[in-house]
Amino acid sequence: MNNYVYEVGNNLYINLTNQCSNDCFFCIRNGHDEMNGTNLWLEKEPTVADVLAQLPDDLSKYDEVVFCGFGEPTYKIDMLHELGKFFKSKGKVTRINTNGQANLVFGEDVCEKLVGAIDKVNVSLNASNAKEYQRICKSIFGEDSFEAMLEFAHRCQDLGMDVIMSVVDIIGKDEVDACQKLCDERGLKLRVRAFE
Ligand code: SF4
Repeated sequence: MNNYVYEVGNNLYINLTNQCSNDCFFCIRNGHDEMNGTNLWLEKEPTVADVLAQLPDDLSKYDEVVFCGFGEPTYKIDMLHELGKFFKSKGKVTRINTNGQANLVFGEDVCEKLVGAIDKVNVSLNASNAKEYQRICKSIFGEDSFEAMLEFAHRCQDLGMDVIMSVVDIIGKDEVDACQKLCDERGLKLRVRAFE
């Protein structure tokens, strides 16, 4: 079965794609096809109707609807727009967890498609500079992906979304400190996550 919808804690997660422009060494997809007992590897990517068909009847118990899944959700930017607006019409807070490379994937600025659909944008920063980012994340776009990711974050912030950059603590204290300095200089918020 393709699991397009799953729960983590008090949040409802939406799984739209396996595709990703990165190949991060810490990605949970490495050697796994499930999370918390839910198989997230998709044999078929969903339509909007496929996602809606798997939604629970009662959305009221969820704090947030999070577009995350096994791949990079912005590969499905039009679905994010449509589904995000649907969940907003139901009064839900919406979030994407993203690598911030959508504008490289599409070759144009697609951030406006998130306006009115997505409240929170969690961007994986992962490193303090382009060279280290590419070593960790192995983007198909090479080192250019780092600056493009920062520009994506700024663009979403300018468009009114609540943007938070994130790093995983396994990168080490010096790198975490350098990421904090970078975010301070760029006017971005940073969250440090514990590696699980
Ligand atoms: S950006 Fe996310 S989904 Fe893509 S490889 Fe990295 S951790 Fe995995």
